[in-house]
Amino acid sequence: MIKEKDQAYIWHPFTPLVADEAALVIKKAQGLYLYTEDDRAIIDAISSWWVNLHGHSHPAIAEAIYQQAKNLEHVIFAGFTHEPAVTLAEKLLKILPSNQTKVFFSDDGSTACEVAIKMALQYWHNKGRNNKKKIIALEGSYHGDTFGAMSVGERNGFSAPFADKLFEVEFLPFPDCHEVNCCVGIQKHCSGVKFAIEKMEEMAKSGEVAAFIYEPLVQGVAGMRMYSAKILDKLLQIAQENNIICIADEVMTGFGRTGKLFASHYCEFQPDIICLSKGLTGGTMALGLTTCNEKIVQAFLSAESNKTFYHGHSFTANPLACAAALASLDLLLQRSCIDAISQIEQLHLKFEKQISTYKNIKEVRVLGTILAIELRNNEQTGYFNSIAKKAYRFFIERNILLRPLGNVIYIFPPYIIKEAELQKVYEVILEFLETEPT
Ligand code: PMP
Repeated sequence: MIKEKDQAYIWHPFTPLVADEAALVIKKAQGLYLYTEDDRAIIDAISSWWVNLHGHSHPAIAEAIYQQAKNLEHVIFAGFTHEPAVTLAEKLLKILPSNQTKVFFSDDGSTACEVAIKMALQYWHNKGRNNKKKIIALEGSYHGDTFGAMSVGERNGFSAPFADKLFEVEFLPFPDCHEVNCCVGIQKHCSGVKFAIEKMEEMAKSGEVAAFIYEPLVQGVAGMRMYSAKILDKLLQIAQENNIICIADEVMTGFGRTGKLFASHYCEFQPDIICLSKGLTGGTMALGLTTCNEKIVQAFLSAESNKTFYHGHSFTANPLACAAALASLDLLLQRSCIDAISQIEQLHLKFEKQISTYKNIKEVRVLGTILAIELRNNEQTGYFNSIAKKAYRFFIERNILLRPLGNVIYIFPPYIIKEAELQKVYEVILEFLETEPT
């Protein structure tokens, strides 16, 4: 019944309206598992679009939301404030890169990025530097689906219908090396990195660049593509020496995903602005955050009304979402959670070795809790590679939710996954690899 009504009334994200299959009806989710109406227990190996950290329906987060809902469910955030927002901001600023001093709330990852872009552009406007208007991003980038976020993302099939409405952005070639000891473009084989650095240098010298936005170390939607912290440091160094505002989009990489609390912690150079969402509430409620350093703050500290940041959403700093985020943060900072993250990485590294000889694998990448397997077939690497559908079906039939990004199968589990459960996910991937021709 629900299935039929769903098909009649609902338009799902990233899904053709003429879908091959009806959406699965989930009646309950607990820990690692999603329970369907016909009592299948499905392992959520991608943390429900990268949001879940501590498992579904976590009692501590549920309790925090319940208690908050009884007391203050929401209040306008202009002219008013509340304890959950203030405590969350205080706690986050303690664990974020040390230069971050202010927190701006919004709704999700896209709005967190919109806010960051607008903040950076208005920074230069407030300073009267109207020649600083250009934005640099990385090829393959993804920052969300609203217009500003789409503009700084790669031009592709997702954005094609809106191509002429997107603002101009300079894209650096993707610096394709994820070796910890990357030579940063010095050796011949590292020419991709060299091109990225050269283009950054050239752009920076123009004096017209307002901001550089990037997904630190891992480009999620591009297929969990990774690049080394050494490269990012080099790009940040050039940007900062040339007065370019650096925006780290940690929407996906934040909250322990890459093995450190934030991917920016792998770098020496700190971003001016950071975007957060997804794991922020442990995957329970929608909430976005944009934080910034004192340099940005100073450009807005003025009684002149034209220097105010005129941006806000109805549900800014929703107390329920803030309470969920506080409960999730408490769980994240426990020793057991930090240990679980490093155990997942160790298991991923072992599995990487185990599959290193498969001919139908182009590359395996691991960082923290993320493992990505790029498959080789006779189609181009990319989101629309037809193997994605086949692999998705194969896994879901075996009660594992893995949603390949084109020819990249990746595991992105909640941190509560047990070794035996992760082994089960590995085994099903192995089974799939065996069925695929080399
Ligand atoms: N930035 C990054 C790096 C993302 O991966 C995503 C979502 N996949 C977003 C921004 C957009 O977040 P949301 O879907 O919450 O708007």
